[in-house]
Amino acid sequence: MRKIQFVLFSLVISMLAFGCSDAVDQLTGLTPENDVEMGKSVVAQIAQDPTNYPVLSEEDYPEAYAYIQKMTDAIVASDDVKYKDIFHYDEVKIIHNDEVLNAFATPGGFIYVYTGLIHYLDNADDLAGVMGHEIAHASERHSSDQMKENLGLQIIVQILLGEGNVAQLASGFFALKFSREDEAESDEHSVIYLNDTEYACNGAATFFEKLSASGQSSGPEFLSTHPSPTNRVQDINAKADELGCDKSGISETGISYDDFKDSLPTPAQ
Ligand SMILES: [Zn+2]
Repeated sequence: MRKIQFVLFSLVISMLAFGCSDAVDQLTGLTPENDVEMGKSVVAQIAQDPTNYPVLSEEDYPEAYAYIQKMTDAIVASDDVKYKDIFHYDEVKIIHNDEVLNAFATPGGFIYVYTGLIHYLDNADDLAGVMGHEIAHASERHSSDQMKENLGLQIIVQILLGEGNVAQLASGFFALKFSREDEAESDEHSVIYLNDTEYACNGAATFFEKLSASGQSSGPEFLSTHPSPTNRVQDINAKADELGCDKSGISETGISYDDFKDSLPTPAQ
């Protein structure tokens, strides 16, 4: 299947080269390999903008990086995570901003987590739930679908061919709004993935419970779409019950979640 898509993509390229852009809309569009290329463009733009995206260096924070990558690897090991041979789930980055309760994944599986989210959550299961949700946006290709919708296939193809404005891809990515269906699907996949790990399979629910309790009802990514936090908690727990999966928390060996927090820059009081 991937081969067929690649051939179709090559067709798009040759048609564009010959100015036959009408044919583009009739073709299926972007391949998972294209997702990776798009992701790399977004990653490059983030790297060029340390003011807005102060990514912690892996050299200075080896313990923190080892912890978050180990967690991500455990989730990605689930059979239900797709494209693990080509997506970059193994390059998680931490953004140093204690005010932001967020995480995101680019097309192609490059994942970013804010220190604000890590400090806000209480344990590894909660963060694993959020990571599962982000991995699902990449694995289910929500972000590439949305980018295709927002920017148009032709513009994306031109950028990937080196003929367009690369910055447009990144701004297209950061303007993404996932649909209610995408959010619900990612919540559900978080439960499915975590069911294959030692983390509490409904870890994502805790995040929304906490947000509801603290009265925060709007914010980026997680809360930008319609399902209310309360509904999402119910849906996540219903999925966990349906799967009959383990809701008890992981007993961590080695570095604990608190150690992980301590290994990050100390938050301003
Ligand atoms: Zn989401």
